[in-house]
Amino acid sequence: MKFGITDTVTLGNGVKMPHLGLGTWRSAEGAEVEQSVRWALEIGYRHVDTAAVYGNERGVGRAIRDSRVPREQVFVTTKVWNDDQRAGRDAVLRAFDESLRRLGTDYVDLYLVHWPVKGKYVEAWRALEQIYSTGRVKAIGVSNFLVHHLADVLKVASVKPMVNQVEFHPRLVQRQLLDFCRNEGIVQEAWSPLMKGKAGEVPLLRELAGKYGKTPSQVVLRWDLQHGVVTIPKSVRRERLVENADLFDFELSADEMAKVDALDRGERIGADPDHFNF
Ligand code: NDP
Repeated sequence: MKFGITDTVTLGNGVKMPHLGLGTWRSAEGAEVEQSVRWALEIGYRHVDTAAVYGNERGVGRAIRDSRVPREQVFVTTKVWNDDQRAGRDAVLRAFDESLRRLGTDYVDLYLVHWPVKGKYVEAWRALEQIYSTGRVKAIGVSNFLVHHLADVLKVASVKPMVNQVEFHPRLVQRQLLDFCRNEGIVQEAWSPLMKGKAGEVPLLRELAGKYGKTPSQVVLRWDLQHGVVTIPKSVRRERLVENADLFDFELSADEMAKVDALDRGERIGADPDHFNF
């Protein structure tokens, strides 16, 4: 499987999404997030993930505008926060406008429902469909949706979610969800792909890293890509941004992929989408 940093997966509506992106959760608004996005674009990343709740959309937008990379070559994702879902459809529409304003752009590439707020996420999906119909977003999707949440949306959707961004790493594989998304043509995207920097604690990942002359983080990111899962490792350090994008000169065998899959323990780092209190 030969491919590179700017290669893309094709979403259900034909839009191309780079399979490697930069995560920005906890990258502080201002100098920190701007530097991180600037470095990432220099290194060759063409995809940045943010969210209204991260409080750093301004910095993300500024760094993209100040770079030499044309806006249309950078895939930008942002997300509608739960409070706006709770406040109803008009609040979701307003939240989108505010994200655009903070990002300083007239469209985003992907807009996501951040969490499946009970009793609210179907209405939020309808609002995203409305935004999609205006052309100010190239693709729409969801995040932290389990199979039953997706099924609820699919029952009423006139536009199918194109992406589901979920916690995904070797300790939380959720095979059934991955298969469901694949069958429905929904691209899965991995958050906390590096287990927040803890990949090096897993002996098999260390062993594979030794075999290929790579780091455990690179092994796990490569495993994402070979699964067809878009991945968005976060770093604010230049050398790690380079490391996390240096994934294209080795390939895990089918047997090694299966061994990494078998590390699954159903272990979450973040909240459970069926039981969250924010
Ligand atoms: P990651 O798994 O990407 O890990 C990030 C952490 O690992 C940071 O502490 C970083 O530190 C460190 N790190 C980065 N690269 C390396 C490396 N090569 N070796 C060792 N440590 C490293 O976790 P995130 O939770 O940030 O997930 C990635 C992105 O996913 C987020 O930034 C966000 O954009 C998105 N996300 C979405 C969620 C959702 O609900 N939809 C929830 C959580 C995340 P440092 O920066 O100092 O390098």
